[in-house]
Amino acid sequence: MSLNRLFWLISVALMLIFLALTARIVSSEWGEYRRGARSVETVRLVQLTMIAMEKTSIERGPSNGLMGGESADLPQLSKKLQAAREQTDESIITLLDALRADADVRYAPVIRKIEYVKGALEPARLDVDRQAGLPRSQRSSDDVSAAVNGMINLIPPFVTAVADLTSIAIQSDPELLDGLTGMRVASSLREYAGQVGSKFTAPVVTQRPLTKDEVIEIGKLYGRIEQLRSLLNIQMRAYRNNAAYNAALSELDAQYFGKGLPILGELLQVGLISGGYELTTAELAARYVPPMASILRLRDVILADLVHDAEIRNHQARNYLIATIAMAIAAFVFFFVLMYLVRQRVLAPILRATRLVTGLAVDNLDVKIPEARYQDEIGDMLRALHVLKARSHERLELASERETLIQQLQVSSNTDFLTGVLNRRAFFAHSEQQLAVAQRYKRNLALILLDIDHFKRINDNHGHLAGDSILRNAVQLIAQLLRKVDILARYGGEEFIILLPEADLEQALIVAEKLRATLAGHAIATDDGSQISITASFGVSALAGEENLDHMIRLADEALYVAKNGGRNRVVRAG
Ligand code: GH3
Ligand code: MG
Ligand code: MG
Repeated sequence: MSLNRLFWLISVALMLIFLALTARIVSSEWGEYRRGARSVETVRLVQLTMIAMEKTSIERGPSNGLMGGESADLPQLSKKLQAAREQTDESIITLLDALRADADVRYAPVIRKIEYVKGALEPARLDVDRQAGLPRSQRSSDDVSAAVNGMINLIPPFVTAVADLTSIAIQSDPELLDGLTGMRVASSLREYAGQVGSKFTAPVVTQRPLTKDEVIEIGKLYGRIEQLRSLLNIQMRAYRNNAAYNAALSELDAQYFGKGLPILGELLQVGLISGGYELTTAELAARYVPPMASILRLRDVILADLVHDAEIRNHQARNYLIATIAMAIAAFVFFFVLMYLVRQRVLAPILRATRLVTGLAVDNLDVKIPEARYQDEIGDMLRALHVLKARSHERLELASERETLIQQLQVSSNTDFLTGVLNRRAFFAHSEQQLAVAQRYKRNLALILLDIDHFKRINDNHGHLAGDSILRNAVQLIAQLLRKVDILARYGGEEFIILLPEADLEQALIVAEKLRATLAGHAIATDDGSQISITASFGVSALAGEENLDHMIRLADEALYVAKNGGRNRVVRAG
Protein backbone atom coordinates (compact mmCIF):
# COMPACT_ATOMS: atom_id res chain seq x y z
CA MET A 1 0.00 0.00 0.00
CA SER A 2 1.36 3.42 -0.90
CA LEU A 3 2.35 5.83 1.86
CA ASN A 4 -0.19 8.31 0.57
CA ARG A 5 -3.04 5.81 0.72
CA LEU A 6 -1.96 4.61 4.14
CA PHE A 7 -1.90 8.19 5.36
CA TRP A 8 -5.44 8.81 4.13
CA LEU A 9 -6.73 5.56 5.57
CA ILE A 10 -5.22 6.29 8.97
CA SER A 11 -6.49 9.87 8.84
CA VAL A 12 -10.02 8.78 8.05
CA ALA A 13 -9.94 6.04 10.70
CA LEU A 14 -8.60 8.44 13.32
CA MET A 15 -11.21 10.99 12.35
CA LEU A 16 -14.02 8.43 12.70
CA ILE A 17 -12.80 7.23 16.10
CA PHE A 18 -12.40 10.81 17.20
CA LEU A 19 -15.87 11.72 15.92
CA ALA A 20 -17.44 8.77 17.74
CA LEU A 21 -15.65 9.64 20.95
CA THR A 22 -16.61 13.29 20.72
CA ALA A 23 -20.21 12.46 19.87
CA ARG A 24 -20.30 10.16 22.89
CA ILE A 25 -18.93 12.81 25.27
CA VAL A 26 -21.04 15.63 23.86
CA SER A 27 -24.21 13.54 23.94
CA SER A 28 -23.52 12.53 27.53
CA GLU A 29 -22.95 16.19 28.50
CA TRP A 30 -26.06 17.13 26.53
CA GLY A 31 -28.07 14.47 28.40
CA GLU A 32 -26.73 15.81 31.69
CA TYR A 33 -27.76 19.31 30.69
CA ARG A 34 -31.21 18.22 29.50
CA ARG A 35 -31.78 16.20 32.68
CA GLY A 36 -30.84 19.28 34.70
CA ALA A 37 -33.27 21.42 32.72
CA ARG A 38 -35.90 18.69 33.19
CA SER A 39 -35.37 18.61 36.92
CA VAL A 40 -35.78 22.39 37.15
CA GLU A 41 -39.05 22.04 35.20
CA THR A 42 -40.23 19.20 37.41
CA VAL A 43 -39.45 21.14 40.59
CA ARG A 44 -41.57 23.97 39.18
CA LEU A 45 -44.38 21.48 38.55
CA VAL A 46 -44.03 20.23 42.15
CA GLN A 47 -44.35 23.84 43.22
CA LEU A 48 -47.45 24.42 41.08
CA THR A 49 -49.03 21.21 42.43
CA MET A 50 -48.34 22.29 45.99
CA ILE A 51 -49.81 25.71 45.28
CA ALA A 52 -52.95 24.10 43.83
CA MET A 53 -53.14 21.81 46.87
CA GLU A 54 -52.63 24.76 49.15
CA LYS A 55 -55.32 26.79 47.42
CA THR A 56 -57.71 23.85 47.66
CA SER A 57 -56.79 23.58 51.32
CA ILE A 58 -57.20 27.30 51.91
CA GLU A 59 -60.63 27.23 50.28
CA ARG A 60 -61.75 25.11 53.26
CA GLY A 61 -61.27 28.13 55.55
CA PRO A 62 -64.04 30.28 53.96
CA SER A 63 -66.09 27.09 53.27
CA ASN A 64 -66.07 26.19 56.94
CA GLY A 65 -66.62 29.81 57.82
CA LEU A 66 -69.71 29.97 55.62
CA MET A 67 -71.16 26.76 57.01
CA GLY A 68 -70.73 28.04 60.58
CA GLY A 69 -71.56 31.68 59.87
CA GLU A 70 -74.49 33.84 61.07
CA SER A 71 -76.94 35.05 58.37
CA ALA A 72 -75.75 38.62 58.85
CA ASP A 73 -72.21 37.65 57.90
CA LEU A 74 -73.28 35.48 54.95
CA PRO A 75 -72.83 37.97 52.07
CA GLN A 76 -69.33 38.88 53.23
CA LEU A 77 -68.32 35.22 53.89
CA SER A 78 -69.73 34.09 50.60
CA LYS A 79 -67.73 36.80 48.80
CA LYS A 80 -64.56 35.54 50.51
CA LEU A 81 -65.39 31.96 49.53
CA GLN A 82 -66.02 33.00 45.95
CA ALA A 83 -62.59 34.63 45.80
CA ALA A 84 -60.94 31.54 47.33
CA ARG A 85 -62.68 29.25 44.83
CA GLU A 86 -61.54 31.38 41.92
CA GLN A 87 -57.99 31.13 43.21
CA THR A 88 -58.28 27.33 43.52
CA ASP A 89 -59.66 27.00 39.99
CA GLU A 90 -56.98 29.25 38.59
CA SER A 91 -54.18 27.35 40.32
CA ILE A 92 -55.52 24.00 39.05
CA ILE A 93 -55.82 25.29 35.47
CA THR A 94 -52.30 26.74 35.65
CA LEU A 95 -51.01 23.39 36.91
CA LEU A 96 -52.80 21.38 34.22
CA ASP A 97 -51.59 23.73 31.50
CA ALA A 98 -48.01 23.41 32.74
CA LEU A 99 -48.26 19.60 32.93
CA ARG A 100 -49.70 19.35 29.44
CA ALA A 101 -47.25 21.85 27.97
CA ASP A 102 -44.44 19.47 28.83
CA ALA A 103 -45.86 16.58 26.81
CA ASP A 104 -43.90 14.13 28.95
CA VAL A 105 -45.58 10.71 29.19
CA ARG A 106 -44.36 10.39 32.76
CA TYR A 107 -46.73 13.21 33.72
CA ALA A 108 -49.80 11.32 32.49
CA PRO A 109 -50.73 9.80 35.94
CA VAL A 110 -50.25 13.20 37.54
CA ILE A 111 -52.55 14.81 34.99
CA ARG A 112 -55.19 12.13 35.65
CA LYS A 113 -55.08 12.86 39.40
CA ILE A 114 -55.41 16.60 38.94
CA GLU A 115 -58.26 16.06 36.44
CA TYR A 116 -59.95 13.93 39.09
CA VAL A 117 -59.64 16.73 41.67
CA LYS A 118 -60.97 19.21 39.14
CA GLY A 119 -64.02 16.97 38.58
CA ALA A 120 -64.55 16.21 42.30
CA LEU A 121 -64.34 19.88 43.26
CA GLU A 122 -67.82 20.67 41.89
CA PRO A 123 -69.88 18.17 43.99
CA ALA A 124 -67.82 18.97 47.11
CA ARG A 125 -68.55 22.66 46.68
CA LEU A 126 -72.27 21.92 46.11
CA ASP A 127 -72.34 20.12 49.48
CA VAL A 128 -70.79 23.15 51.16
CA ASP A 129 -73.24 25.48 49.41
CA ARG A 130 -76.19 23.28 50.42
CA GLN A 131 -75.20 23.46 54.12
CA ALA A 132 -74.56 27.18 53.92
CA GLY A 133 -77.97 27.64 52.28
CA LEU A 134 -79.79 26.04 55.21
CA PRO A 135 -80.85 28.09 58.25
CA ARG A 136 -78.30 27.53 60.97
CA SER A 137 -80.71 25.51 63.15
CA GLN A 138 -81.30 23.04 60.32
CA ARG A 139 -77.61 22.27 59.69
CA SER A 140 -76.84 18.88 61.14
CA SER A 141 -73.44 18.23 62.62
CA ASP A 142 -73.01 15.08 60.48
CA ASP A 143 -73.88 16.89 57.25
CA VAL A 144 -71.45 19.70 58.02
CA SER A 145 -68.75 17.12 58.86
CA ALA A 146 -69.50 15.35 55.58
CA ALA A 147 -69.19 18.62 53.65
CA VAL A 148 -65.91 19.42 55.44
CA ASN A 149 -64.60 15.91 54.70
CA GLY A 150 -65.67 16.25 51.05
CA MET A 151 -63.23 19.14 50.73
CA ILE A 152 -60.52 17.35 52.74
CA ASN A 153 -60.81 14.31 50.48
CA LEU A 154 -59.62 16.41 47.56
CA ILE A 155 -56.17 16.59 49.12
CA PRO A 156 -54.86 12.96 48.87
CA PRO A 157 -54.74 13.00 45.01
CA PHE A 158 -52.58 16.11 45.25
CA VAL A 159 -50.31 14.38 47.77
CA THR A 160 -49.75 11.40 45.46
CA ALA A 161 -49.31 13.73 42.49
CA VAL A 162 -46.57 15.51 44.43
CA ALA A 163 -45.01 12.11 45.22
CA ASP A 164 -45.07 11.17 41.51
CA LEU A 165 -43.46 14.41 40.42
CA THR A 166 -40.93 14.22 43.22
CA SER A 167 -39.70 10.83 42.11
CA ILE A 168 -39.47 12.05 38.49
CA ALA A 169 -37.44 15.05 39.65
CA ILE A 170 -35.15 12.88 41.79
CA GLN A 171 -34.55 10.56 38.83
CA SER A 172 -33.24 13.57 36.92
CA ASP A 173 -31.28 15.01 39.80
CA PRO A 174 -30.77 12.90 42.97
CA GLU A 175 -29.47 15.94 44.81
CA LEU A 176 -33.02 17.27 44.92
CA LEU A 177 -34.04 14.52 47.35
CA ASP A 178 -33.58 16.41 50.65
CA GLY A 179 -35.20 19.61 49.47
CA LEU A 180 -38.16 17.86 47.87
CA THR A 181 -38.69 15.77 51.01
CA GLY A 182 -38.61 18.97 53.06
CA MET A 183 -41.17 20.56 50.79
CA ARG A 184 -43.45 17.54 51.06
CA VAL A 185 -43.10 17.49 54.82
CA ALA A 186 -43.95 21.21 55.01
CA SER A 187 -46.83 20.71 52.62
CA SER A 188 -48.19 17.78 54.64
CA LEU A 189 -47.78 19.80 57.79
CA ARG A 190 -49.85 22.59 56.25
CA GLU A 191 -52.46 20.04 55.21
CA TYR A 192 -52.73 18.37 58.59
CA ALA A 193 -52.73 21.75 60.31
CA GLY A 194 -55.66 22.69 58.09
CA GLN A 195 -57.42 19.40 58.69
CA VAL A 196 -57.11 19.56 62.47
CA GLY A 197 -58.61 23.08 62.30
CA SER A 198 -61.44 21.80 60.09
CA LYS A 199 -62.28 19.16 62.69
CA PHE A 200 -63.58 21.94 64.92
CA THR A 201 -65.88 23.36 62.21
CA ALA A 202 -68.87 21.12 62.88
CA PRO A 203 -68.69 21.38 66.71
CA VAL A 204 -68.24 25.16 66.52
CA VAL A 205 -71.12 25.53 64.05
CA THR A 206 -73.47 23.65 66.38
CA GLN A 207 -71.65 24.74 69.58
CA ARG A 208 -71.56 21.18 70.89
CA PRO A 209 -68.91 19.11 72.69
CA LEU A 210 -66.54 16.98 70.61
CA THR A 211 -67.61 13.44 69.91
CA LYS A 212 -65.38 10.60 70.90
CA ASP A 213 -64.49 9.95 67.24
CA GLU A 214 -63.60 13.58 66.73
CA VAL A 215 -61.31 13.51 69.75
CA ILE A 216 -59.57 10.42 68.38
CA GLU A 217 -59.25 12.03 64.94
CA ILE A 218 -57.88 15.24 66.41
CA GLY A 219 -55.43 13.24 68.54
CA LYS A 220 -54.16 11.39 65.44
CA LEU A 221 -53.68 14.64 63.56
CA TYR A 222 -51.81 16.14 66.55
CA GLY A 223 -49.54 13.12 66.46
CA ARG A 224 -48.83 13.54 62.76
CA ILE A 225 -48.21 17.24 63.13
CA GLU A 226 -45.70 16.54 65.93
CA GLN A 227 -44.03 13.89 63.77
CA LEU A 228 -43.69 16.26 60.83
CA ARG A 229 -42.30 18.96 63.05
CA SER A 230 -39.56 16.67 64.33
CA LEU A 231 -38.86 15.55 60.76
CA LEU A 232 -38.23 19.16 59.81
CA ASN A 233 -35.89 19.53 62.78
CA ILE A 234 -33.99 16.28 62.48
CA GLN A 235 -34.19 14.96 58.93
CA MET A 236 -33.19 18.06 57.04
CA ARG A 237 -29.46 17.68 57.64
CA ALA A 238 -28.51 19.33 54.38
CA TYR A 239 -30.30 22.47 55.54
CA ARG A 240 -28.72 22.59 59.00
CA ASN A 241 -26.46 25.49 58.05
CA ASN A 242 -28.93 27.24 55.80
CA ALA A 243 -29.71 30.59 57.48
CA ALA A 244 -32.95 31.23 55.56
CA TYR A 245 -34.19 27.74 56.42
CA ASN A 246 -33.34 28.15 60.10
CA ALA A 247 -35.05 31.54 60.22
CA ALA A 248 -38.17 30.08 58.59
CA LEU A 249 -38.09 27.15 61.02
CA SER A 250 -37.89 29.51 64.02
CA GLU A 251 -40.76 31.51 62.59
CA LEU A 252 -42.75 28.28 62.19
CA ASP A 253 -42.12 27.46 65.85
CA ALA A 254 -43.08 30.93 66.96
CA GLN A 255 -46.10 31.37 64.68
CA TYR A 256 -47.79 28.05 64.12
CA PHE A 257 -46.58 26.06 67.09
CA GLY A 258 -46.45 29.17 69.34
CA LYS A 259 -49.71 30.85 68.36
CA GLY A 260 -51.82 28.74 65.94
CA LEU A 261 -51.81 25.33 67.55
CA PRO A 262 -52.44 26.62 71.13
CA ILE A 263 -55.76 28.11 69.88
CA LEU A 264 -56.90 24.60 68.99
CA GLY A 265 -55.58 23.44 72.39
CA GLU A 266 -57.97 25.81 74.13
CA LEU A 267 -60.90 24.73 71.91
CA LEU A 268 -60.06 21.09 72.60
CA GLN A 269 -60.30 21.72 76.33
CA VAL A 270 -63.73 23.38 75.87
CA GLY A 271 -64.87 20.70 73.42
CA LEU A 272 -64.02 17.92 75.86
CA ILE A 273 -66.27 19.48 78.54
CA SER A 274 -69.07 21.78 77.35
CA GLY A 275 -69.04 22.80 73.70
CA GLY A 276 -69.47 26.48 74.56
CA TYR A 277 -66.69 27.74 72.33
CA GLU A 278 -67.85 31.37 72.29
CA LEU A 279 -66.62 31.97 68.72
CA THR A 280 -67.82 31.39 65.15
CA THR A 281 -66.00 29.33 62.52
CA ALA A 282 -65.12 32.58 60.75
CA GLU A 283 -63.57 33.92 63.91
CA LEU A 284 -61.76 30.63 64.38
CA ALA A 285 -60.42 30.85 60.82
CA ALA A 286 -59.41 34.47 61.30
CA ARG A 287 -57.28 33.50 64.33
CA TYR A 288 -56.03 30.07 63.24
CA VAL A 289 -55.29 30.53 59.55
CA PRO A 290 -52.69 33.38 59.61
CA PRO A 291 -50.15 31.48 61.78
CA MET A 292 -50.35 28.59 59.28
CA ALA A 293 -48.76 30.89 56.69
CA SER A 294 -45.44 30.31 58.45
CA ILE A 295 -45.58 26.65 57.31
CA LEU A 296 -45.89 27.70 53.70
CA ARG A 297 -43.15 30.26 54.10
CA LEU A 298 -40.85 27.46 55.27
CA ARG A 299 -41.90 25.41 52.28
CA ASP A 300 -41.22 28.33 49.97
CA VAL A 301 -37.78 28.88 51.46
CA ILE A 302 -36.93 25.25 50.70
CA LEU A 303 -38.42 25.57 47.25
CA ALA A 304 -36.49 28.74 46.42
CA ASP A 305 -33.31 27.06 47.61
CA LEU A 306 -34.07 23.96 45.59
CA VAL A 307 -34.80 25.82 42.39
CA HIS A 308 -31.72 27.95 42.94
CA ASP A 309 -29.48 24.90 43.39
CA ALA A 310 -31.03 23.06 40.48
CA GLU A 311 -30.58 26.12 38.29
CA ILE A 312 -26.96 26.43 39.36
CA ARG A 313 -26.36 22.77 38.58
CA ASN A 314 -28.12 23.15 35.28
CA HIS A 315 -26.08 26.22 34.52
CA GLN A 316 -22.94 24.28 35.34
CA ALA A 317 -24.06 21.44 33.12
CA ARG A 318 -24.61 23.95 30.32
CA ASN A 319 -21.15 25.39 30.87
CA TYR A 320 -19.64 21.91 30.80
CA LEU A 321 -21.53 21.23 27.61
CA ILE A 322 -20.28 24.44 26.01
CA ALA A 323 -16.73 23.76 27.24
CA THR A 324 -16.89 20.22 25.88
CA ILE A 325 -18.13 21.39 22.50
CA ALA A 326 -15.50 24.13 22.41
CA MET A 327 -12.77 21.65 23.30
CA ALA A 328 -14.07 19.21 20.71
CA ILE A 329 -13.98 21.94 18.06
CA ALA A 330 -10.49 22.97 19.16
CA ALA A 331 -9.36 19.36 19.05
CA PHE A 332 -10.84 19.00 15.56
CA VAL A 333 -9.03 22.11 14.39
CA PHE A 334 -5.74 20.84 15.86
CA PHE A 335 -6.31 17.47 14.29
CA PHE A 336 -6.83 19.01 10.86
CA VAL A 337 -3.82 21.30 11.29
CA LEU A 338 -1.74 18.31 12.34
CA MET A 339 -2.90 16.24 9.39
CA TYR A 340 -2.30 19.18 7.06
CA LEU A 341 1.20 19.77 8.45
CA VAL A 342 2.13 16.11 8.33
CA ARG A 343 0.88 15.96 4.78
CA GLN A 344 2.41 19.20 3.54
CA ARG A 345 5.68 19.15 5.41
CA VAL A 346 6.47 15.46 5.70
CA LEU A 347 4.46 13.23 3.42
CA ALA A 348 4.31 15.34 0.25
CA PRO A 349 8.10 16.12 0.29
CA ILE A 350 8.88 12.46 0.96
CA LEU A 351 6.65 11.35 -1.92
CA ARG A 352 8.25 13.92 -4.23
CA ALA A 353 11.69 12.90 -3.02
CA THR A 354 10.85 9.26 -3.69
CA ARG A 355 9.79 10.09 -7.24
CA LEU A 356 12.97 12.08 -7.63
CA VAL A 357 15.30 9.44 -6.26
CA THR A 358 13.56 6.82 -8.39
CA GLY A 359 14.04 9.17 -11.35
CA LEU A 360 17.70 9.69 -10.49
CA ALA A 361 18.17 5.95 -10.35
CA VAL A 362 17.16 5.72 -14.02
CA ASP A 363 19.01 8.96 -14.89
CA ASN A 364 15.81 10.95 -15.36
CA LEU A 365 16.76 14.45 -14.26
CA ASP A 366 13.56 16.17 -15.39
CA VAL A 367 11.93 15.75 -11.98
CA LYS A 368 11.71 19.09 -10.20
CA ILE A 369 12.96 19.22 -6.61
CA PRO A 370 11.07 21.70 -4.46
CA GLU A 371 13.13 24.32 -2.66
CA ALA A 372 13.70 23.57 1.04
CA ARG A 373 11.47 26.05 2.87
CA TYR A 374 12.05 25.03 6.48
CA GLN A 375 15.15 24.39 8.52
CA ASP A 376 13.98 20.91 9.44
CA GLU A 377 14.96 17.37 8.52
CA ILE A 378 12.82 17.44 5.39
CA GLY A 379 14.62 20.65 4.40
CA ASP A 380 17.97 18.86 4.89
CA MET A 381 16.76 16.01 2.71
CA LEU A 382 15.63 18.39 -0.07
CA ARG A 383 18.97 20.20 0.01
CA ALA A 384 20.79 16.88 -0.14
CA LEU A 385 18.62 15.89 -3.10
CA HIS A 386 19.58 19.09 -4.91
CA VAL A 387 23.25 18.15 -4.46
CA LEU A 388 22.49 14.61 -5.58
CA LYS A 389 20.72 15.86 -8.70
CA ALA A 390 23.60 18.22 -9.55
CA ARG A 391 26.09 15.37 -9.12
CA SER A 392 23.97 13.05 -11.25
CA HIS A 393 23.89 15.74 -13.90
CA GLU A 394 27.68 16.09 -13.81
CA ARG A 395 28.12 12.35 -13.90
CA LEU A 396 25.84 11.98 -16.93
CA GLU A 397 27.66 14.78 -18.77
CA LEU A 398 31.02 13.16 -18.04
CA ALA A 399 29.71 9.83 -19.22
CA SER A 400 28.44 11.32 -22.46
CA GLU A 401 31.76 13.17 -23.02
CA ARG A 402 33.64 9.95 -22.47
CA GLU A 403 31.34 8.17 -24.90
CA THR A 404 32.05 10.73 -27.63
CA LEU A 405 35.76 10.52 -26.93
CA ILE A 406 35.69 6.77 -27.17
CA GLN A 407 33.81 6.98 -30.44
CA GLN A 408 36.24 9.55 -31.81
CA LEU A 409 39.14 7.41 -30.68
CA GLN A 410 37.64 4.38 -32.29
CA VAL A 411 37.16 6.21 -35.58
CA SER A 412 40.66 7.63 -35.54
CA SER A 413 42.22 4.35 -34.55
CA ASN A 414 40.51 2.65 -37.46
CA THR A 415 41.08 5.35 -40.04
CA ASP A 416 44.09 6.39 -41.93
CA PHE A 417 44.97 9.90 -40.95
CA LEU A 418 45.92 11.12 -44.43
CA THR A 419 43.36 9.54 -46.73
CA GLY A 420 40.42 8.89 -44.46
CA VAL A 421 40.04 5.25 -45.55
CA LEU A 422 40.51 2.30 -43.19
CA ASN A 423 44.01 1.68 -41.94
CA ARG A 424 45.77 -1.61 -42.14
CA ARG A 425 44.69 -2.75 -38.67
CA ALA A 426 41.00 -1.98 -39.33
CA PHE A 427 41.26 -3.69 -42.71
CA PHE A 428 42.26 -6.92 -41.07
CA ALA A 429 39.51 -6.66 -38.50
CA HIS A 430 36.84 -6.13 -41.15
CA SER A 431 38.27 -8.60 -43.64
CA GLU A 432 38.61 -11.47 -41.22
CA GLN A 433 34.84 -11.33 -40.78
CA GLN A 434 34.23 -11.35 -44.51
CA LEU A 435 36.64 -14.23 -44.96
CA ALA A 436 34.84 -16.24 -42.26
CA VAL A 437 31.47 -15.61 -43.90
CA ALA A 438 32.77 -16.50 -47.36
CA GLN A 439 34.44 -19.70 -46.17
CA ARG A 440 31.44 -20.77 -44.15
CA TYR A 441 28.90 -20.19 -46.90
CA LYS A 442 31.26 -21.04 -49.76
CA ARG A 443 30.99 -17.56 -51.20
CA ASN A 444 33.47 -15.86 -53.51
CA LEU A 445 36.00 -13.44 -52.14
CA ALA A 446 38.69 -11.54 -54.03
CA LEU A 447 41.53 -9.26 -53.15
CA ILE A 448 43.31 -6.46 -55.03
CA LEU A 449 46.64 -5.02 -53.98
CA LEU A 450 47.71 -1.84 -55.78
CA ASP A 451 50.86 0.25 -55.62
CA ILE A 452 51.33 3.64 -57.23
CA ASP A 453 54.15 3.59 -59.70
CA HIS A 454 57.28 5.59 -59.11
CA PHE A 455 55.79 7.56 -56.30
CA LYS A 456 59.18 8.42 -54.98
CA ARG A 457 59.65 10.40 -58.11
CA ILE A 458 56.43 12.34 -57.61
CA ASN A 459 57.59 13.30 -54.16
CA ASP A 460 60.92 14.24 -55.49
CA ASN A 461 59.56 16.29 -58.35
CA HIS A 462 56.56 17.98 -56.73
CA GLY A 463 57.25 17.84 -53.01
CA HIS A 464 55.98 15.72 -50.23
CA LEU A 465 52.84 17.82 -49.72
CA ALA A 466 51.85 17.38 -53.35
CA GLY A 467 52.49 13.68 -52.86
CA ASP A 468 50.10 13.70 -49.94
CA SER A 469 47.34 15.39 -51.88
CA ILE A 470 47.86 12.97 -54.78
CA LEU A 471 47.42 10.11 -52.35
CA ARG A 472 44.13 11.67 -50.95
CA ASN A 473 42.65 12.35 -54.38
CA ALA A 474 43.70 9.03 -55.86
CA VAL A 475 41.96 7.27 -52.98
CA GLN A 476 38.77 9.28 -53.64
CA LEU A 477 38.88 8.27 -57.25
CA ILE A 478 39.33 4.63 -56.34
CA ALA A 479 36.60 4.69 -53.70
CA GLN A 480 34.08 6.10 -56.21
CA LEU A 481 34.54 3.06 -58.41
CA LEU A 482 33.97 0.50 -55.63
CA ARG A 483 30.77 -0.97 -54.19
CA LYS A 484 29.62 -0.24 -50.68
CA VAL A 485 30.51 -3.73 -49.55
CA ASP A 486 34.07 -3.53 -50.81
CA ILE A 487 36.67 -2.82 -48.16
CA LEU A 488 39.30 -0.28 -49.16
CA ALA A 489 42.27 0.38 -46.88
CA ARG A 490 45.70 2.00 -47.00
CA TYR A 491 48.10 -0.91 -46.80
CA GLY A 492 51.35 0.96 -46.77
CA GLY A 493 52.82 4.34 -47.89
CA GLU A 494 51.42 4.45 -51.47
CA GLU A 495 50.05 0.92 -51.44
CA PHE A 496 46.27 0.17 -51.07
CA ILE A 497 44.35 -3.00 -50.54
CA ILE A 498 40.75 -3.83 -51.54
CA LEU A 499 38.69 -6.82 -50.41
CA LEU A 500 35.79 -7.67 -52.70
CA PRO A 501 33.08 -9.88 -51.12
CA GLU A 502 30.96 -11.96 -53.52
CA ALA A 503 33.52 -11.47 -56.29
CA ASP A 504 35.55 -14.18 -58.00
CA LEU A 505 38.97 -13.73 -59.57
CA GLU A 506 37.59 -12.74 -62.98
CA GLN A 507 35.29 -10.12 -61.55
CA ALA A 508 38.10 -8.76 -59.39
CA LEU A 509 40.36 -8.55 -62.45
CA ILE A 510 37.70 -6.50 -64.20
CA VAL A 511 37.45 -4.15 -61.20
CA ALA A 512 41.27 -3.86 -61.03
CA GLU A 513 41.43 -3.13 -64.74
CA LYS A 514 38.76 -0.44 -64.38
CA LEU A 515 40.70 1.14 -61.51
CA ARG A 516 43.96 1.00 -63.39
CA ALA A 517 42.39 2.55 -66.49
CA THR A 518 40.70 5.29 -64.49
CA LEU A 519 43.87 6.22 -62.60
CA ALA A 520 45.92 6.19 -65.73
CA GLY A 521 43.28 8.14 -67.64
CA HIS A 522 42.86 11.01 -65.15
CA ALA A 523 45.41 13.64 -64.31
CA ILE A 524 45.09 14.09 -60.57
CA ALA A 525 44.88 17.57 -59.09
CA THR A 526 47.13 18.61 -56.21
CA ASP A 527 46.19 21.23 -53.63
CA ASP A 528 48.36 23.84 -55.32
CA GLY A 529 46.33 23.40 -58.51
CA SER A 530 48.83 21.47 -60.74
CA GLN A 531 47.70 18.33 -62.51
CA ILE A 532 49.77 15.17 -62.24
CA SER A 533 49.31 11.94 -64.09
CA ILE A 534 49.92 8.75 -62.23
CA THR A 535 49.67 5.04 -62.84
CA ALA A 536 49.43 2.08 -60.53
CA SER A 537 50.20 -1.63 -60.67
CA PHE A 538 47.69 -4.25 -59.46
CA GLY A 539 48.00 -7.76 -58.08
CA VAL A 540 44.74 -9.72 -57.84
CA SER A 541 44.00 -12.92 -55.92
CA ALA A 542 40.82 -14.79 -55.01
CA LEU A 543 39.71 -17.22 -52.31
CA ALA A 544 40.17 -20.78 -53.46
CA GLY A 545 39.62 -22.89 -50.33
CA GLU A 546 40.73 -22.85 -46.74
CA GLU A 547 43.59 -20.34 -47.07
CA ASN A 548 43.85 -17.38 -44.71
CA LEU A 549 43.94 -13.67 -45.46
CA ASP A 550 47.72 -13.49 -45.26
CA HIS A 551 47.93 -16.15 -47.95
CA MET A 552 45.58 -14.23 -50.25
CA ILE A 553 47.61 -11.07 -49.66
CA ARG A 554 50.86 -12.88 -50.36
CA LEU A 555 49.47 -14.19 -53.63
CA ALA A 556 48.27 -10.72 -54.59
CA ASP A 557 51.61 -9.26 -53.57
CA GLU A 558 53.46 -11.75 -55.76
CA ALA A 559 51.19 -10.79 -58.63
CA LEU A 560 51.85 -7.11 -57.90
CA TYR A 561 55.54 -7.84 -57.97
CA VAL A 562 55.12 -9.45 -61.34
CA ALA A 563 53.14 -6.39 -62.51
CA LYS A 564 55.94 -4.06 -61.36
CA ASN A 565 58.57 -6.16 -63.03
CA GLY A 566 56.43 -6.46 -66.09
CA GLY A 567 56.61 -2.71 -66.67
CA ARG A 568 54.08 -1.29 -64.24
CA ASN A 569 50.59 0.19 -64.98
CA ARG A 570 49.14 -3.28 -65.38
CA VAL A 571 46.97 -5.85 -63.66
CA VAL A 572 48.37 -9.33 -62.88
CA ARG A 573 46.39 -12.27 -61.54
CA ALA A 574 47.83 -14.44 -58.83
CA GLY A 575 49.33 -17.79 -59.63
P1 GH3 B 1 57.80 1.61 -57.60
O1 GH3 B 1 56.78 1.38 -56.60
O2 GH3 B 1 57.25 2.00 -58.92
O3 GH3 B 1 58.81 0.54 -57.65
O4 GH3 B 1 58.58 2.95 -57.24
P2 GH3 B 1 58.39 3.80 -55.99
O5 GH3 B 1 59.13 4.99 -55.98
O6 GH3 B 1 56.87 4.08 -55.87
O7 GH3 B 1 58.74 2.84 -54.89
P3 GH3 B 1 59.35 2.98 -53.42
O8 GH3 B 1 58.72 1.94 -52.55
O9 GH3 B 1 60.80 2.91 -53.54
O10 GH3 B 1 59.00 4.38 -52.92
C1 GH3 B 1 57.82 4.66 -52.26
C2 GH3 B 1 57.84 6.05 -51.94
O11 GH3 B 1 56.57 6.61 -51.52
C3 GH3 B 1 58.80 6.32 -50.81
C4 GH3 B 1 58.16 7.43 -50.00
O12 GH3 B 1 58.83 8.63 -50.00
C5 GH3 B 1 56.86 7.66 -50.67
N1 GH3 B 1 55.85 7.75 -49.68
C6 GH3 B 1 55.44 6.79 -48.82
N2 GH3 B 1 54.43 7.29 -48.02
C7 GH3 B 1 54.23 8.58 -48.37
C8 GH3 B 1 53.38 9.58 -47.91
O13 GH3 B 1 52.60 9.38 -47.02
N3 GH3 B 1 53.46 10.77 -48.56
C9 GH3 B 1 54.28 11.08 -49.54
N4 GH3 B 1 54.29 12.28 -50.09
N5 GH3 B 1 55.11 10.13 -49.97
C10 GH3 B 1 55.11 8.91 -49.42
MG1 MG C 1 55.61 0.83 -52.69
MG1 MG D 1 55.34 2.48 -55.65
